[in-house]
Amino acid sequence: MAGTPTLAVVLDGLSTAGLDTGCRHGVPWYVSHLGSQLVAALANTSVSLAAGLAEAIERVAALHPGCDLKNPGTPSATVSVLRQRGGYLDHLVLADSPVVFEEHHDFTVITDLRVDEVLPDLRAEVEQYETHTVEHEKALRRFVTAQRQSRNTSTGYWVAAADPEAASHAIVGSTAAEAVRAAAVLSDGASRLVTEYAMATWAEVFAMLRADGPRELLREVRKVEATDPTGRRWPRYKSGDDASVAFCQW
Ligand SMILES: [Zn+2]
Repeated sequence: MAGTPTLAVVLDGLSTAGLDTGCRHGVPWYVSHLGSQLVAALANTSVSLAAGLAEAIERVAALHPGCDLKNPGTPSATVSVLRQRGGYLDHLVLADSPVVFEEHHDFTVITDLRVDEVLPDLRAEVEQYETHTVEHEKALRRFVTAQRQSRNTSTGYWVAAADPEAASHAIVGSTAAEAVRAAAVLSDGASRLVTEYAMATWAEVFAMLRADGPRELLREVRKVEATDPTGRRWPRYKSGDDASVAFCQW
C-alpha cells in the first residue's frame, strides 16, 4: 500500500504457491518497486492512471533484465488506485482488489472478477480441502500452475506483471468528487469480510473505518477468520490473506 494526500495505491502480490517464478528478487520486491514507480508516475496528473501503470510496469521490468520475465509465473500483483484530480476522483482496478465509493445514499463497488471466472473445476478442487492439509497444498499448486497459463492472455485475466499491456485491460473511470462522501481501496483479503464472508455490509465497514480506522477493520477480518481456521465455512486459499485498506475522506 502506498499513497500521498491525493493518491491511494493498493497492490496485492499473487501467491506463487512455492512454484518457480524465474525471478531471483521475489514477489515482495516486485510489489514494492511497482508501488513506488506507480506513485512516481501518477504524481503528474496529466498522466492517466492506465498510462501511469503501463509506465510503472515497464520501469520495474527494466530493473531486472537478468530475470526470466517471460516465465508465466513472473511476479505479479493486483492493482487498485484512487486519485483526486481537481473535482474528480479517478479510479483504476486490475483484478480483485476493489475500490468502494460511499455516495450520499448508496455504495458503488468497482472490482474486476475475471480472475474468479477462470478454471472453476480446479478452484472447486482447492476449495473442497481444509487449509493446512497436504491435499489443499497440492490442489493449490495444480490450480496456480494452470492459472499461470491463462494469466495475462486474452481468454484469461489480467494482473500487473512484466508486460505493460496489462494496464490497458484495467477497469478505469472518473467520478465527480462532490458525489462521494468517502472511499476505500482494499485488498481482497480485507474486502472479503463483505464479499465472501458476508459478515458485514459496506455501510458497517465504512462506519467502522470512520470511527476506528483501518486497523479496526483488519482486526475484525482476523477475528472472523479465527472462527473458521481451516476454511470449512468459507473455503479459501489461506486461513488469512494479506489485508490492506486505504480509507479516503474529503
Ligand atoms: Zn527479478
